[in-house]
Parts: sequence; C-alpha cells; structure tokens
Amino acid sequence: MNFEELIQDVYLKIKSREDKGERASYIPELSNVDPKNFGVHISTINQVNFGIGNYNDKFSIQSISKVLALILAYRIVGDEIWDRVGVEPSGTAFNSLFQLEADKGIPRNPFLNGGAIVVSDILLSNLKNPKEDFIDFVRGISNNTTLEYSNSIAQSEKDVGYRNVALCNFIKSFGQIENEPSVILDFYYDLCSLEMSCKELSELFLFLANNGLGLQNNESILSESQSKRINALMQTCGFYDESGEFAFKVGLPGKSGVGGGIIAIHPDQYAIAVWSPKLNKKGNSYKGMMFLEEFTTRSELSLF
Ligand code: GLN
Repeated sequence: MNFEELIQDVYLKIKSREDKGERASYIPELSNVDPKNFGVHISTINQVNFGIGNYNDKFSIQSISKVLALILAYRIVGDEIWDRVGVEPSGTAFNSLFQLEADKGIPRNPFLNGGAIVVSDILLSNLKNPKEDFIDFVRGISNNTTLEYSNSIAQSEKDVGYRNVALCNFIKSFGQIENEPSVILDFYYDLCSLEMSCKELSELFLFLANNGLGLQNNESILSESQSKRINALMQTCGFYDESGEFAFKVGLPGKSGVGGGIIAIHPDQYAIAVWSPKLNKKGNSYKGMMFLEEFTTRSELSLF
C-alpha cells in the first residue's frame, strides 16, 4: 500500500471542499486559531512516516488527552478503574449532564467530560506531582521531551468552564469523587491544554497499533489485553454521539478533540492524525472526519 500517494490525493481533494464547520468558540482561545490549517500525518508499524499540510504545527489536543489520562490511570489502578467509570457509549454530547442523575454519578465512559474528570480524580489521588508526572509519562511514551501544556488554553477554558464545574460537583454529590473539585478541574484543564502536532500525535499513539508495545524500545506501555480494551473504547465511545457514524464511515478506533484534531488507529498497521480546526455540530473536526472516511474507503483497510 502506497500511503504517501493516497494521503496526498485524498488531502488535496478534501482541502478543496467547502468547510462547513465552526471553530469551538466556547473556549475563547480556540477561536483564535487559523481555520484554514489542515494537516495529516501517518506513522506505520513498518516505519513509514509521512505528513502533508500543517502536520508539524502544534495545536490544542483537548479531549484526545483523555485517552492518555485513561491509559496512565489504567496502568496505576488496573481493572478497579471500571468501578468508577463505565464502558458504554452514551449517545450524548461530551459535556452532557443528564445521564449522571440516573447513573448515580458513574459516567458512562471515560471519554465524556464527566468520565475524564473522574479519571483526573483517580490520577490526583495516586500521583505525587500530578501535573509533572502526567507530562513526564506522555513525554516518556513518545520519546519527545518537547511536549508542553498551554497555560493560556488552560486558563481560557477555566474562565468559562461552567459546565465542567457543574459536572464535577454533581459527581461529587454522589460521593464518586475524592478530591476538591477546583483542584481536579485545574488538573483536567491542564490535561486538555496539551499541544502536539499531527506528527507527534501519530508517533505517540502508534503503540496502540502494536499491542501496547512502544516501537522505539519495545517497552510495554500497556498489556496486550489492556491495549485492546483502549482501542475498543475508542471505537465505541471516541466521538460522543457520533461514535456510531465514525465506525460506520471510517471503521477505526479513534478519538477527537474540540481543537479539531483526530487520532485513529488501525491495529497492526498504523496510527494516523488529522487536524482541521472547524468542527461539525457534534464537536468533531468537519474535514478530519471527511478525510478519514475517504482515506479508509480508498485504502480498503478498515477493520470490518
Ligand atoms: N476541554 C474540553 C472541555 O472540557 C474538551 C472537550 C472536547 O475536546 N470534546 O469541554
């Protein structure tokens, strides 16, 4: 499979289409990003690395970070994590509150804001220096010491994070949160503010295409079974109430963020990252979704 040619072709085709999305204006800092940015980068198990467009520019990875937080918490507490957060698709928006009442403060899955807030709480209870330890973990698995949080993005989100405050307090009211909500939210906003390029993202996530084994030094980041479970969750819950659509059209485990990034994994083959800041109505990158649909259709390599 000549990924370079195919990516180039699909990229140019999608680039020329009208972008009907909108940037995530609810986080003020995200609405300052140039909406014309569009980048793609693939990293394969067979050492093919190829990028096009703005693949080297860093952007706010937002909810893609929820996968990394989950992985670190899963490594630390193991299967106990599933007592605190479910593994069911929610069919709701990422910041929805309403199922939490019926579910008594147990978020349906770790990729909803409520779920990631619970995962942040678990990390706070188990790490000595949560902010430093988390970034060290991410730098370690990607072998990239330049990765950083963005203080301006975190602050911008904190200034208007009313729904996340509500989610955190609501979950705490059911006794499902240990730490102080303000401390958890500061940590959660830091996690979401991580900045990476498409190239850095696809390199970082390649271990999920390799049964949990890092490619640089064959170090086990997750066990084979844990890695499969993370992929299963990304497949079923990675795009909120558009997860079914993503499985239907793209057919890969993946995760989106409101910064306009998407990471998708083809087990045993590759990790691919796409970035285009304008989002569709469900909060997923408009052109990112289109690119991946066309890419997996034409490569005929979807999971199904
Ligand atoms: N930080 C964002 C929020 O809490 C993450 C949402 C997302 O990327 N879907 O609203």
